[in-house]
Amino acid sequence: MKIGKSEKLKELYNQYEIDVAEFKTSAVCVKGCANCCIDVGNIDITTLEGIIIHKRMATFAEPLKSKIKAGLAQNKMEREKGVLSRCAFLKKDKTCIIYDIRPFSCRWLYSVKDCNGTSPTVHRQALNLAKNTVKKIQQLDSAGYSGHISYILSLLDNEEIRRLYMRGKLKPQKIAHFGKSHGLSINRTAPS
Ligand code: SF4
Repeated sequence: MKIGKSEKLKELYNQYEIDVAEFKTSAVCVKGCANCCIDVGNIDITTLEGIIIHKRMATFAEPLKSKIKAGLAQNKMEREKGVLSRCAFLKKDKTCIIYDIRPFSCRWLYSVKDCNGTSPTVHRQALNLAKNTVKKIQQLDSAGYSGHISYILSLLDNEEIRRLYMRGKLKPQKIAHFGKSHGLSINRTAPS
């Protein structure tokens, strides 16, 4: 991974917030709502975002670290069965333990109506801006992969894969089996 990608990622996050500011003023989301974090079916991340989260996890003390790892394994298992489950990073008080580095999937979601167990209502323009930002993040992580947060973090928990990824040498063949069975996309095939 080239130096500076994390900074560029932050710039993309910040630019998105500037671009959608006028839409988000009508959002009804409040701290501690967390509906989006409990129904985590669509929380997809890139390996670039995953490596940042993985590094943060390494700083967590026990028993928190093991609890989050167990939660991610549970998410992965439930995802494989098609079940949606509570995010492993959601605290008891329904705040996010990695809020400052949460992935883009968690950043663009908001709703102008109380979700009340249903899908959020997002402005079409904001949705298009989000899709554009996703493409830019995938292009930034062009030697990486995208997929469900539990799959990407499981992939990056493998030291050899992590090392290859950091050196930009993670070949699709290396994770072909895992990728196929878990629906991971290769970012380098993302449209420009
Ligand atoms: S990473 Fe944080 S914001 Fe994203 S789904 Fe999990 S708890 Fe929610």
